[in-house]
Order: sequence, then structure tokens, then C-alpha cells
Amino acid sequence: MLLPIVSYPAPSLREKSEPVGEINAEIKKLASDMLETMYAAPGVGLAAPQVGRNIRMIVLDPAPASEPRKPMVLINPELELLGESIVSEAEGCLSVPLNYRASVKRKERVRLKALNLQGEQIDCEMDGFAAIILQHECDHLDGLLFIDHLSRLKRSLYDGKLRKQLKRQADEERKAASGT
Ligand code: ZN
Repeated sequence: MLLPIVSYPAPSLREKSEPVGEINAEIKKLASDMLETMYAAPGVGLAAPQVGRNIRMIVLDPAPASEPRKPMVLINPELELLGESIVSEAEGCLSVPLNYRASVKRKERVRLKALNLQGEQIDCEMDGFAAIILQHECDHLDGLLFIDHLSRLKRSLYDGKLRKQLKRQADEERKAASGT
């Protein structure tokens, strides 16, 4: 089932998410719906708060489009940031409107601890694209978006553009509603 994606500036994207307790049928269904929604978008990662659930679960697929799918579901993920700082170029987010993209500073490697859907403990190191997606998705669980990592100038330019767009949409909706 495709789930509606919550967009910035929705306040729920700013909440710190709660740990997942029992990995029950409802959590498994949510994971499968999140993967379906992510692939349909299309995107490479999705965090539960982006579909309106403030719980600590993310899905991702770091495989290049030319390779077979490699879906991952991670529950209660914890990251230790390792290695050098790198620039993640043209990062974007399904919850950040206008298809906005910008460069973000990330770490090149992470140590990941999480549970998979079977409740098994994962403890591994990841680098490259997977490490960047993990940092982006885990930020969502703490109420952070990639635009929070931008310079103040870049951020205010984006916010201004988005405000204009939202105002234009509201004006159009008002016009449509009044039938003029
Ligand atoms: Zn995102």
C-alpha cells in the first residue's frame, strides 16, 4: 500500500521518534508499505516519521538503479560516525518540497547497530552511498532534515522560495473554492 509522504514544514517531522517495542505484524506491514512507497517515489531511503509514524524505523536501498534491488529495513538504528568528513552532493529528501537539492557535509563511514525485521541484531560498518543514506534517515528519527545542515544563507533562500510557492498554492485553492 502506498503511504502519503509528510512534507516540510509539518511539525511532526521535527519530533524525536520513539523506539519500536515489539516487532509485530503491524510493524512488518508498515515496513513493507514504506519500501513500496520509497520505490514508487522513487527514493533510496525513507524514515517512519516521513509517513506520519514517529517511531524509530527506516528503510533504504543503496543499490545503483542498474543492479538488483537490495531492500533493508532497520529498527531502532544507532549510528557511530567515523572517518573523514565528505561532501554529499545534491542530497534531496522526499519530505522537502520543490525537489530541492544541496550539498551536505557527512562522514564517510558509520558503524551501524540496529535490529532487522526478524529481530536479529545487526552490527556492521558501512561506507559510501549507504553511509550517507543512513545518516540522512537516522537524522529524521531525531527530527532533523538535510536542510538543517545548510548555511544560514542557503537555508533562508530555500525557505523564502518555499513560502512563495505555498502562498501561490493557497491563493489558487482559494480561487478554485470561490469558483472564480
Ligand atoms: Zn529525507
